[in-house]
Amino acid sequence: MSRFFNKKFSSLKAYVPGEQPKDMKYLKLNTNESPYPPSPSVCKAVNCDEASLLKLYPDPDCTELKAAIADLYGMKTDNIFVSNGSDDILNFSFAAFSSKDKKAYFADITYGFYSVFAEYNGVEYVKIPLDGELSINVDDYINKDGLIVIANPNAPTGNFIPVSEIEKIVASNKNGVVVIDEAYVDFGGESCVGLVNKYDNLLVVQTFSKSRSMAGARLGFAVGNRELISDLETLKFSTNPYSINRITLKAGVEAIKENDYYTGNCKKIIEAREYTYNELTLLGFDVIKSYANFLFAKSSAISGERLYLLLKQNGILVRHFDAERIKEYNRITIGTMDDMCKFITAVKKILECEK
Ligand SMILES: *Cc1c(COP(=O)(O)O)cnc(C)c1O
Repeated sequence: MSRFFNKKFSSLKAYVPGEQPKDMKYLKLNTNESPYPPSPSVCKAVNCDEASLLKLYPDPDCTELKAAIADLYGMKTDNIFVSNGSDDILNFSFAAFSSKDKKAYFADITYGFYSVFAEYNGVEYVKIPLDGELSINVDDYINKDGLIVIANPNAPTGNFIPVSEIEKIVASNKNGVVVIDEAYVDFGGESCVGLVNKYDNLLVVQTFSKSRSMAGARLGFAVGNRELISDLETLKFSTNPYSINRITLKAGVEAIKENDYYTGNCKKIIEAREYTYNELTLLGFDVIKSYANFLFAKSSAISGERLYLLLKQNGILVRHFDAERIKEYNRITIGTMDDMCKFITAVKKILECEK
């Protein structure tokens, strides 16, 4: 740390992304990327003509992309905010809708970025423990009147709360914004977008990084009441109005047009997830039922860390977290069926050697 670093950041612990190794080729089941490439029209649109236009700034209003997203979800363009990854939107949400006296509330076991964003923005926050099954207890989120942030499905557990339950939280939190982070909603959950016209305090955040195979493009969007959206626009135009580059804007529009391609991929991923769930259960693992493109699993036959390390030696990366409550688990991203057969074969081999 330099002696010039602002004191308000001196204790900030930055988010640690999953490994993106360069040393050897791994089967990457660690950062919840899609195993499938972007749709054919996305690959076609990102071409030399588009590259030659990089000399020009992109459209700061992102009109075409917003219109495409609004159309897909039956909303108006002014209900849509887009930015450089949904992480960007989550950061803006903490900045915009919580403060020193308006606390933020989120689960103890959830997306690790929430506490980083709270710290970064100097916001008071409360971590609400998941129950013994690692599920969110909806009653814990009633009448908070602060900023509530819920990943639904949750990460890294894969649990899902029905929309009717989320609605109870939104309805009881009239003086605070409820952010529902739906990064994984396309893998079997149900979106809360349908509630947006009914509540002025609900912001639904989604990403192109998981189900839409564009983690490398950095694109996220939010759906909400137009006044909430306008607050986010104020923050975006006060920091980086051109935060989405031209190529990503173009790719995003094409991806929305080919929605069926992505729905098909999600179906395949769900099939591979259920296969993996069954196989792990047969091998004696304790696996949480998942509505996402990953599984969260532990075994009494091997520690979480050891399984992670042995899988890595076998060329397979999964995600292991050190936090006390979940250190016996690994989070396994679901790839193709072929990927998951390789994964199960490796797990069998490892367990055999542990006997
Ligand atoms: C992956 C993920 C995101 C981040 O998505 P980006 O759009 O790539 O920034 C947000 N929330 C959760 C819960 C995630 O797992």
